[in-house]
Amino acid sequence: MKDSLWQAVLGEVELSVSRASYVTWFKNTVLLKNKDNVLVVGVPTIFVKNQLERKFNQLILDVLKKNGVEPDKVEYKIHVSSSGTLHKRSKEETVMVLPGSNAPAPSTVKPSGNSNSVRHSYRQGLNERYTFDNFIVGSGNELAYAACQAIASAPGERYNPLFLYGGVGIGKTHLIQAVGNAILATNPKAHVVYISSEQFVQEFLDAIRYKKNTDFAGYYRSADVLIVDDMQFIAGKEKTQEEFFHTFNALHQANKQIIISSDKPPKDIPTLEERLRSRFNWGMSIDMQIPDFETRCAIVQTKATVHGISLDPGVVEYLASHVQTNIRELEGALNQLLAFCEMRGLQPEIQIATSLLGASKSRPKHISPKQIVERTAKHFQVSIDDILGPKRDKDIVVPRQVAMYILRSELHLSFPKIARELGRKDHTTAIHSVEKIEKESSLDADMRSAISAIKERLYA
Ligand code: ADP
Ligand code: MG
Repeated sequence: MKDSLWQAVLGEVELSVSRASYVTWFKNTVLLKNKDNVLVVGVPTIFVKNQLERKFNQLILDVLKKNGVEPDKVEYKIHVSSSGTLHKRSKEETVMVLPGSNAPAPSTVKPSGNSNSVRHSYRQGLNERYTFDNFIVGSGNELAYAACQAIASAPGERYNPLFLYGGVGIGKTHLIQAVGNAILATNPKAHVVYISSEQFVQEFLDAIRYKKNTDFAGYYRSADVLIVDDMQFIAGKEKTQEEFFHTFNALHQANKQIIISSDKPPKDIPTLEERLRSRFNWGMSIDMQIPDFETRCAIVQTKATVHGISLDPGVVEYLASHVQTNIRELEGALNQLLAFCEMRGLQPEIQIATSLLGASKSRPKHISPKQIVERTAKHFQVSIDDILGPKRDKDIVVPRQVAMYILRSELHLSFPKIARELGRKDHTTAIHSVEKIEKESSLDADMRSAISAIKERLYA
């Protein structure tokens, strides 16, 4: 009874809003209660709740009225079972096709009473948010996308290992996680392991320290699919590379799938052991590029749609041309615009976009000096105490200088303040350090990539 009323309402709503809005905001709602002139609708997330309250409440009241129900009030309540497995979406649900793109838009969650809750035990590291369905394909990433799809449909059979490389924020993590999620969707029992190489290094060190070497090795060697993100972090860590080499061999011999991402090709990762380098060349290496302008437009449009907003083409094009190198930043710019407009009840228009984004290229997230120092220490694997202490060894001095440089470039701190953050008395040290790293990063690609890796993690 409740069901048929709500089905009728949904049927009408579906005719009066865009397909994307329907899928995003209505599809997973249920009627929980219809009593005492109050109607309670179950929704999967707070986001949907807000949107229905703010944008669609009147529509829902109108449609209810048409169906002979006139409650005093409609309440939206987050309903656990409607949030069940969030991403078990099937192809038919992604229906919206954007102009200039063949890629399906991300739609939304599907509540499915589900049988595969057990799979969580093998889900470590995977984020369900990253799927093939919400990845926009275009020039720059289509080859990588195709390879990843091929792997998802037949893991271990082709492209083994797959080595994806390219700059920061262009979708590497998204794609390789999508492979893991897709494999788990068809085979919930598969042992899919996703890990960043930084984490691999850390776990390996811990395993040695706590003498749990065999657990560590056993865990990784029992994977059906091993996904290692940001391989560049393993550079120079000899013992870990050796361990990884053995893991690699064990898995490869057993025809298990291995997927690796990195910010540069194997040949450009300094101090990557030769034998690992040659292993990586056994399979397929793909150079991922930032998607072209049209694809970036499609990404912006799609992400706006997920927020229930349809943007003017002018705004979309402005954003896509404003941010040209990094999809994460593109998302950031879009979110900044949407938040700005939402708080003020404005329509996102081109004038707002240009004044908001043109003026400040400031970072959307607040980062503290302490976080910068910690991140930098972590990246170079030195202790905070050493960075802040008196040591003058090269492997401490360089991280210290890099931290100063990032404090300057990201937070625009004064030199005396920078010196203080690093426990130095003399601010000329800070000036000298910042200049030195500035120069080095213009000459040395490794330095550049170290800095961008630290920044990436800071803002991640
Ligand atoms: P990388 O690992 O290469 O640094 P990520 O995979 O973390 O980059 O991508 C950064 C952000 O941009 C993520 O939120 C991701 O979902 C998004 N993104 C990147 N490429 C695409 C794409 N083609 N379609 C949709 N979203 C994308
Ligand atoms: Mg990444």
